This record gives sequence, structure tokens and C-alpha cells, in this order.
Amino acid sequence: MDNNQLYDMVIIGGGPAGATAAIYAARAGLKSVILEQMNIGGEIVATDRLDNYPGFPKGIAGAEFGMLLQQQMESLNVPVEISQVESVSFQEGVKEIVTSAGVFQGKTLLVATGTEPNLLGVEGETELLGRGVSYCATCDAAFFRGKTIGVVGGGDAALEETVFLSRFVEKAYLIHRRDQFRGCSWLQDKALELPNVEVLWNTTVSRIEGDKKVSALHVNQGGRERRLEAEGIFIYAGRKPKTGFLKGVQLEQDERGFIITNAKMETSLEGVYAAGDIRKKYLRQVITAASDGAIAATAAAQYIFA
Ligand code: NAP
Repeated sequence: MDNNQLYDMVIIGGGPAGATAAIYAARAGLKSVILEQMNIGGEIVATDRLDNYPGFPKGIAGAEFGMLLQQQMESLNVPVEISQVESVSFQEGVKEIVTSAGVFQGKTLLVATGTEPNLLGVEGETELLGRGVSYCATCDAAFFRGKTIGVVGGGDAALEETVFLSRFVEKAYLIHRRDQFRGCSWLQDKALELPNVEVLWNTTVSRIEGDKKVSALHVNQGGRERRLEAEGIFIYAGRKPKTGFLKGVQLEQDERGFIITNAKMETSLEGVYAAGDIRKKYLRQVITAASDGAIAATAAAQYIFA
């Protein structure tokens, strides 16, 4: 299907950055469309709770936050196309986006595709994916009720999800490659006080053992090999930007692939904006993603109406 409409703004990604951009675009009188591969809300939908967003003193479930965003898109009549973006190209100022649901054209483009998990790259990781290996505690925690698992990483995600998983599992090994966490101190305090969590410092996973499902984790703890009986492993070894569809596009990115923008969320290409976790930025949070989206749509409106 070819979509003949020329949108003011094509938004790739319906997480907090893209959805907020759509809100601001609508208020500025721009016609926008969101191209999203899963559901409005993005990663936050797979997060247990959002506890640090203003206006929710008791926090809010990630899934509920995503649903509210979805409702907001509906009430603003923002079209959401569930589709996989394959490539983008630019011709005489028009941004053309080729997707599994057809071709979309925009006067401006906002890239708000966020990130995806890094793999550890060890034996058993891809082979046992969905059979004990997981990157999403919210999705899979219930399968590990009363069992022993490992959680890998020392950032906010590993700490937050360890706290969540501890409510289900008999025991969790929190496996971190260094002797101090990278995550924020309040999450560290929460994770470290849990009686069923054992932190393995200076430890890396060398192999995930299992035939049809995970049965053990082989780790190297300060040079010593250990085999831990475990039925699952949740991997939070950081994330990488989702930019595969930008292949061949000369968009300035940092050494890790995050898109470089200025304070108006403008990228190195005219009329192309980036917002949320996909950007090179200091703090990756829902609130900063929403802020980026608001700025990007406002800047795009200024560009279009100039
Ligand atoms: P992150 O902050 O980059 O942490 C990744 C962790 O994985 C680090 O501790 C890192 O170890 C470890 N790691 C990386 N590669 C590894 C490997 N090959 N083997 C073993 N360990 C490895 O990533 P994140 O925790 O996913 O967080 C991403 C962003 O989202 C951050 O900006 C974070 O603040 C944000 N976030 C915020 C919240 C919240 O505020 N509630 C929740 C989740 C995420 P080193 O420490 O040694 O580098």
C-alpha cells in the first residue's frame, strides 16, 4: 500500500518520546503519523512500575502508562501504523519511509526508536532464548516462581528488575562484572537488602547450560570457574540504539550509534529530528524522552511554518 499523503511529521517509534511529539504536533496543528512495530508506550509497557514520573505519587504500572498514552493518541486522532520500518531516504526535502505497511512521506521526520538489549554473546544465550534466557522480567518473571535464577548487569535495569524478580523467585544471583554497581544508589540499597538475592561481584557468565531449557550457569568469579544451578537468566547488559533502518543515511552518530542532536533535537540532516533514548544524551528516562519529544515537535512546527 502506498500512502499518498504528505504528513507534516512522520514519527518512527511510539514510546514516550514519539507519543509526546505527536501530542505537541497535534497542538501545533501538524498532521503526524506514528509508525510503531509493537504498541504505543514502547519499552515502558514491559516495565513493572514507573516510580519517578511527576504526577503519580504512588507510581504507575508500565502497562497502564502505555494504555493511557494509547488513549491519548486516540483522543487526538493521531494515526498509529503498526509496521516495521525498513529504510528511509530523502528526496528534495521529502522524507520517504519504507515500511512493511507501505511507504510514508513527511516534510519532517522524527526518529524515536529507542534501544534494544545487548547480548552477552555466550554459548547457550540465543539457543535457549525463551527457554530460560530472557531480557524482560515483566514478561517472564511468573515462569520462575519458586526457582533459582541469575540476573546479569549492574545498571539501573539490572537492579530494578532484580527487585521485581525477587518477589517471584526462591533465589536470585545478581551477577556483575565489577566490584561496584553503575545504577543509582536508591536502587542499589533496595537490591542489596533483599534476603533472597546474592550478589556475585567481579563475575562474568561464560556459558549457559541446558538441553531443552536452562539448567545451570557457568560463571567466572575473579578467575575461579563455578557452576550455578539455575533455571533462568535475565540479561541486562546495557542497550544499543535501534538504527538498523538508517543504513546508508549520513546521520551524525556517536561511536556507539546514538544519534547526535542539538538542543532543538535537530540532527545533522535538515528536517530530521531525534528524541528519547536513541539520542546521545546524559539521562535516559521516560521524563527526558517525553521532554525530547515535546521539543522536537515544537522545533519541527517552527521549521514547517517558517
Ligand atoms: P547500563 O546503565 O548501560 O548498564 C549496563 C550494565 O551491564 C552495566 O553495569 C555494565 O557493566 C553491564 N554490562 C555491559 N556489558 C556487559 C557484558 N558484556 N557482560 C556483563 N555485563 C555487562 O544499562 P541499563 O541498566 O539497561 O540502563 C540503560 C539506561 O536506562 C540507563 O541510562 C539507565 O539509567 C536507564 N534506566 C533507568 C531506570 C530507572 O530510572 N528506574 C530503569 C532502567 C533503565 P559496567 O558497569 O561494568 O559497565
